[in-house]
Amino acid sequence: MTASRSRRPLLLLDVDGPLNPFGRQPGPCAERYASHMLRPRNWVERHGGVIEEAPALRVDLNPAHGPALTALGCELVWATTWMDQANAMIGPVLGLPRLPFIDWGDALFSPDPAGLHWKTRAVVAYAAGRPFAWIDDEIEASDRDWVAAECGPSVLLHAVSDEVGLTDDDFTVIQAWVQEF
Ligand SMILES: [Mg+2]
Repeated sequence: MTASRSRRPLLLLDVDGPLNPFGRQPGPCAERYASHMLRPRNWVERHGGVIEEAPALRVDLNPAHGPALTALGCELVWATTWMDQANAMIGPVLGLPRLPFIDWGDALFSPDPAGLHWKTRAVVAYAAGRPFAWIDDEIEASDRDWVAAECGPSVLLHAVSDEVGLTDDDFTVIQAWVQEF
């Protein structure tokens, strides 16, 4: 890739769904997922606020996803409720370096007045005009329509099933988009 670092497209990445397919059926899986019992801050706060007393959250991660994401050549950014905790708990399992993250602030879980996903406006604001792909299990047609009107054709909103997580087919779609730049 010849583009300079600052001109690389952004890849804004959700955790729960694309990386942690929490809707996955139990049983044998062809992919190399391993389960991790974690206590992220948001989870602990929803379970009494005391880390020693909160139940652990099972998070299934596929270590092959880290190298595959890196190979895309994008500037990776966490776009997840894990925020900076993705750097402590998710990135190391996948072999990813410390990444920037979107701090949702007051937008976190706040209903959107136009019915968009609560992340959508914050994602567009973070990108600030740069080309970006947003990978998330909760993207809907209304988000795509709004972002296309705001940003034009240089964006990719790609929904990933929370039952299977990122697949080779998803990477093929993202790679095809990256090659536009
Ligand atoms: Mg998600």
